[in-house]
Amino acid sequence: MATAYLSIGANLGDRLQQLNQAIALLKAQPEILVTKVSPFYETAPVGGVVQDDFLNGAVALETTLEPLALLAVIHDIEQQLHRVRKVHWGPRTIDLDIVFFDQLSQKTAALTLPHPEVYNRRFVLVPLLDILPKTSVYYSKVVQANARLGDSQRLQVFNGV
Ligand code: AMP
Repeated sequence: MATAYLSIGANLGDRLQQLNQAIALLKAQPEILVTKVSPFYETAPVGGVVQDDFLNGAVALETTLEPLALLAVIHDIEQQLHRVRKVHWGPRTIDLDIVFFDQLSQKTAALTLPHPEVYNRRFVLVPLLDILPKTSVYYSKVVQANARLGDSQRLQVFNGV
């Protein structure tokens, strides 16, 4: 059994519904046990493309799947939710990324672990800190990266409206 952390985000259509549907689809997988879901945050887009704010969260799960099989599952969920991606780093109905998979460190064409942008993005770090145990090998690095970013990227807890 492996422990993985996912980052989830949406900025098109009903963002809350997209996130909740993605989580429901993860829970429906027999090889996946969702153990924690963070609060959601409204966040400014990062990457220079003018677009609406995102809704972001993080999910902790236990799985018997290998990393590439988990990646295939999240791609399948993205497709089921009709992900639209016309512009790189542009609007998307739903985006799921694997942030950590156990303590695996790898860089292949299909999958880089930990996710290469994790320490540069408040929208990944802040929800992650809500669910990452202090005993995680990544905890202090996540805390430090988050402190380094300060208030540089706008982010606030989603109030549900
Ligand atoms: P994105 O636009 O962020 O969804 O990137 C999609 C592509 O990034 C996928 O086709 C993956 O093969 C690749 N990728 C590399 N590392 C990761 C990761 N840790 N989690 C999710 N996708 C990844």
